[in-house]
Amino acid sequence: MRPSVLDPLFAPATALSGVGPKLAKALNKLLGDETHAARVIDLMFHLPTGAIDRRPSESIAEAPIGEVATFSAQVTEHRPAPPTKAKAPYRVIVEDETGDVTLVFFHADVRHLLQTLPIGAYRIISGKLELWDGMRQMVHPDRILDPKLAATLPSVEPVYGLTEGIGGRVMARIAAGAAERCPELPEWQDPGFLTRHDFVPFRNAIHALHHPVDLKAATGETVARRRIAYDELLASQIALALVRRQQKAAGRATAGDGALRHAIETALPFTLTDGQRKAIADIHDDMEKPERMLRLLQGDVGSGKTVVALMAMAAAAEARRQSVLMAPTEILARQHAERLAPLADKAGLKLALLTGREKGAGRRQVLEGLANGEIDIVVGTHALFQEGVAFHDLALAVVDEQHRFGVHQRLLLGAKGEAVDILVMTATPIPRTLALTWFGDMDVSILSEKPAGRKPITTRAISLERYDEVVGAVGRALDAGAQVYWVCPLVQESDTLDVAAAQERFEALQAIFGDKVGLLHGQRPGRDKDAAMATFSGGQTRVLVSTTVIEVGVDVPNASVMVIEHAERFGLAQLHQLRGRIGRGSAASTCLLLYKGPLGQVAEARLTIMRESEDGFRIAEEDLRLRGEGEVLGTRQSGSPDWRIARPEIDGDLLAAACDDARLLIERDPQLETPRGQAIRTLLYLFERDVAIRLLRAG
Ligand code: ADP
Ligand code: MG
Repeated sequence: MRPSVLDPLFAPATALSGVGPKLAKALNKLLGDETHAARVIDLMFHLPTGAIDRRPSESIAEAPIGEVATFSAQVTEHRPAPPTKAKAPYRVIVEDETGDVTLVFFHADVRHLLQTLPIGAYRIISGKLELWDGMRQMVHPDRILDPKLAATLPSVEPVYGLTEGIGGRVMARIAAGAAERCPELPEWQDPGFLTRHDFVPFRNAIHALHHPVDLKAATGETVARRRIAYDELLASQIALALVRRQQKAAGRATAGDGALRHAIETALPFTLTDGQRKAIADIHDDMEKPERMLRLLQGDVGSGKTVVALMAMAAAAEARRQSVLMAPTEILARQHAERLAPLADKAGLKLALLTGREKGAGRRQVLEGLANGEIDIVVGTHALFQEGVAFHDLALAVVDEQHRFGVHQRLLLGAKGEAVDILVMTATPIPRTLALTWFGDMDVSILSEKPAGRKPITTRAISLERYDEVVGAVGRALDAGAQVYWVCPLVQESDTLDVAAAQERFEALQAIFGDKVGLLHGQRPGRDKDAAMATFSGGQTRVLVSTTVIEVGVDVPNASVMVIEHAERFGLAQLHQLRGRIGRGSAASTCLLLYKGPLGQVAEARLTIMRESEDGFRIAEEDLRLRGEGEVLGTRQSGSPDWRIARPEIDGDLLAAACDDARLLIERDPQLETPRGQAIRTLLYLFERDVAIRLLRAG
């Protein structure tokens, strides 16, 4: 049950004075979602994005031009629009001994103006001051006040994100009202901790954020904001720690004799890197423990994650248990199955492929083999798990190339088999802060080195205007025996978007290079996709024109040239992932980033980083810096932490602290029963960490 102290915050926004049905509707648009209308808490967390300085100037002469100015002056003249020009504005002149200002009103309510600005009266005026023909003027002042009411004008006025139907003043009033309803909350952290960080109580911090005392307080890094951000990060880390504990508890030991692993290792055409050996050892240690394995394998493109997965699956087979390997696309699932089959064969492992395309008798056979335990390893897409496939004895689920496999999905997966061990493999490295926020419940293995013998890739950015030269270079590369990926952003030519279509490029290149050119995109039938992939992989086609379907995982070592058309439209992680398709063989590789100028700042920065670096860990950090968390991982995925205040990518130090603190707090009070534990429950409700709340209810 939600602690009743939070009730005032979870009341609908209409509980605030001055919020009627009309305003509520606008608020819902801004702050509500599918599950609920705007609530008091949404307004409380709707913090100012900036502030307006309304501190008065000494005189009109000293009032700043081009910004919001506040001054006091006497009304000296009303100048109605001439009757011949009905649309001209109504003007009011105000002045002091240093100068005058023309106040300009369009569609004026004259009676109202005569009342608020009577001739001879002194007024405090505030609004944006401009120069027009050398004269000071102010169009529609924000504030016109009787000097007697000067005290009611805050010197710094918070600015809020708005939507149609809600003005700045109204928003400021109701947001402040919401902050007012924030109750005194019990502290979830030690008094010593709070003192060390100068943290004021939660309620005071919220109040301070809605009532900034100066411009810096409204926008900058204040202690109040840090406090709230820390609390939010702490809530998410505690939630992950609770998930971890619940998940771990469900495990069982899977221990093999090493025979299959040994057989596979001897069959490999290469020796494992130290990083691979270490990751394999980490995984086996986990599997042998009676706890469930929750491990994230981070490695750059081409670092050799697949074989690590295979060794893990072999270990499960040694214990006569089954494994599933899930890929994000069908192409990749197929490729995995093809690659792994010979190795599995040599070790006497039975491996099957199951995607939406396996139908009829073949499909039935696989399903039977899984149910009776004949099949050791099944490779498929992520959909595999949604389809109610029955296993004889599933021990291990490997999720390949999946950044967005959030807590919710992992919980679902964990609930499927009997305490299956879980290994998630990322497509490219993800920055530490994101690893903590997304996978904070998991242990991490990192493959930091690439297999020996990889040659660096030469990356160049070239304007699309030099298309003909690029085609010439591709021709020379083909003559030299290379294979080429040519990546286009969209499938069909669109009139509104100036995007090179894969279909069109395919035809253009085919006109030059003939049947050496193949085409691969997501809208082709599955069989055609297979054929396109197979002929390229087998070397019959030498140029593969494709959309980003080849982005993840595809592995054709002889391909050493990649052309990416409209590279400026791709994200950094995507470019890196695409480029990772080349540089896999013995030949030197080249990546040509074709862009259409003029380039925006961010696009230019991306292309520069791509030219400078091949290090996926560095690129991931830069990507985060350029884009922010939401976009790196796909925005607002279910199960994603949905940040109200904290910006994990920026608040890295706070996040690291919150992570350590969360584990400590949970360790000290596993059932959250002490007064501090009760306060932590309040914190979880406050930031709506639903997963954790459900676990607490169940436990
Ligand atoms: P990713 O980590 O991107 O999934 P893959 O598992 O697809 O990488 O491996 C990329 C390529 O490197 C494959 O062709 C694989 O056979 C090869 N490979 C993996 N490990 C090694 C190694 N230790 N030495 C040499 N080649 C390796
Ligand atoms: Mg891979």
